[in-house]
Amino acid sequence: RYGSTVAVHDASVTVAAGELASLLGPSGCGKTTLLRAIAGFEPVADGRIVLGGRVISEPRRSLAPERRRVGMVFQDFALFPHLNVERNVAFGLRGLDAAQRAARVGELLAMMGLSGSQAAMPHELSGGQQQRVALARALAPDPDILLLDEPFSSLDSELREELAAEVRALLLRQGTTAILVTHDQHEAFAMADRVTLMHAGRVVQTASPPELYRQPADEFVAGFIGQGAVVQLQVNAAGELDNGLGQWPGPKPESGVLRLLLRPEHVRHDPRSETRLTVTERRFCGAEYRYTLRLADSQELVGLASGDIEIEPGGQLPVRVDLQQAVILGPVNGQH
Ligand code: ATP
Repeated sequence: RYGSTVAVHDASVTVAAGELASLLGPSGCGKTTLLRAIAGFEPVADGRIVLGGRVISEPRRSLAPERRRVGMVFQDFALFPHLNVERNVAFGLRGLDAAQRAARVGELLAMMGLSGSQAAMPHELSGGQQQRVALARALAPDPDILLLDEPFSSLDSELREELAAEVRALLLRQGTTAILVTHDQHEAFAMADRVTLMHAGRVVQTASPPELYRQPADEFVAGFIGQGAVVQLQVNAAGELDNGLGQWPGPKPESGVLRLLLRPEHVRHDPRSETRLTVTERRFCGAEYRYTLRLADSQELVGLASGDIEIEPGGQLPVRVDLQQAVILGPVNGQH
């Protein structure tokens, strides 16, 4: 809680030892607040945080951040600008003599692909290299959990994915438990085994990336993860959907109206199909065209066709709609 603002509530998250988890959500949803509470930078007004069986936060009782055995990596790297790489990485190492410290720093830098850069100053390194140093520094004291706050977002997109994949492999090899905070689903999917999606201070769903994509808990998750269109369709007595979309493969809803999420890959160009939809927009994406398609009642779908199928806006695209894959967001009560 920040004064009268309740930033996080109803948030229950469990991360198993060795697991790579992610807190994902739009700006302002409370993910950084939750991460900072785990790190010990924010007190909790209610609830508990337990690490390895030990309560580290509860109302009016908070273990100091430096006593939590938590490693932290920030978006802006936060290296000490006046210390060289070796001294940055060695910063949190306690109880080692000089030779042991130098050996540990060497080992971590090798792990990060930065062997021999001990004497370099942070400003002499690229953004990606600085973030590797920050990771080495966070991992040096062998924390019980590593917390990463948007660690890749200031890097360009290609480097971001490369580093995310590299960090994932490294953390898995080390058996490190980690929580990544990000607003970017690609980053969350690239790094984490399990993703917790937050919205307006609450946890909406925790699931593996494929599960979040295929079985979103509600319309917010469906809209935030991946792409697609939400449409409302009437099912007639014979089980056919309106707008000429074919036979509904599931049970007919009592109200006769379904609310469905259809992903672009479930609406594919098929020259033999009798379902023809009006093209309102198209975008070339290399191997494929992404078409925005209008149904007879003016609702819109997004569909895919191979890059050599060129139909101008206003034309008709024959598509096969894979209704088996449609995500049911619920039968709709009342009028269509
Ligand atoms: P972003 O990705 O933009 O950082 P977030 O999901 O991490 O967003 P938080 O930074 O945790 O969200 O913020 C959650 C809510 O708490 C927001 O409504 C925000 O305005 C509020 N908040 C965050 N920090 C403070 C603060 N220090 N004082 C008051 N309110 C704050």
